[in-house]
Amino acid sequence: MRTIRDLAVLRTRVRDWREAGESVAVVPTMGALHEGHLSLVAAAKAACDRVIVTLFVNPKQFNNPQDLARYPRTEATDAALLQPLGIDVLFAPEASAVYPEGFLTKVTVAHLQDVLCGAHRPGHFDGVATVVTKLLLMTGADIAFFGEKDWQQLQIIRRLVEDLNIPVDVVGCPTLREKDGLAMSSRNQRLSKADRARAPALHAAMAEAAVVIRAAGDVAAALSAARGAILKAGFAEVEYLELRHSATLEPLDRAAPEARLFAAAWIGGVRLIDNIALF
Ligand code: AMP
Repeated sequence: MRTIRDLAVLRTRVRDWREAGESVAVVPTMGALHEGHLSLVAAAKAACDRVIVTLFVNPKQFNNPQDLARYPRTEATDAALLQPLGIDVLFAPEASAVYPEGFLTKVTVAHLQDVLCGAHRPGHFDGVATVVTKLLLMTGADIAFFGEKDWQQLQIIRRLVEDLNIPVDVVGCPTLREKDGLAMSSRNQRLSKADRARAPALHAAMAEAAVVIRAAGDVAAALSAARGAILKAGFAEVEYLELRHSATLEPLDRAAPEARLFAAAWIGGVRLIDNIALF
């Protein structure tokens, strides 16, 4: 595995692979890698001859400067975790190389970015869409792997790839969870021991609401009970907890085959998100 920071070096390497007829996968990450990220790497490795993992803490997707400053940066540990997995390149560019002076372009995916996380994090999905577009074009990968943990992000990426005719297949991979149900996340590292013990309540309450809604129970009542349970468990705030269509992200008021529950909630100054399918 070679760590590359320079785009020209990356492009030469990818060109050589292509000339040898090899397929290329990319797994974009912001580092602080955990088993969830590594499951994407394993899927990429199984699908393509060559695998690039990108590591870039994208300043444009942080609407809160404190959140950006506190985001864990653990490149040496990340590289050590990736080393045994047989990937080819860790692409870790500097921010000044991704956004050089004079950078003015923004990729906006309308509508899909206005709801859920987008409604609470102004500019976040523009930042995500812009950097993912760049990473797909920089790597020239055939297949890109993303986690369902960030479901809204995955829908936005599928849309931009189609709309901009980027020649890449987007693959979504299931959310990896800790044994107690908490979705793995780089942000979990920032939880105190006590909050880490409380955090699984988010997924538990969502799973319980899903059972009620699946059985044709009242959606508003189920969501309200789940909110209550999350707050009672020690979360400071439930930012949103909603039932929506998995592809269009339109709100739903009853169970449907495409229905998904989405939530974001704050605990100990850390914002956690989760989503689960209803069926
Ligand atoms: P991040 O570094 O948080 O931007 O995540 C990089 C990629 O890993 C994204 O496609 C995420 O959706 C994915 N990912 C993050 N957490 C998980 C998880 N628990 N299970 C599966 N994929 C995940």
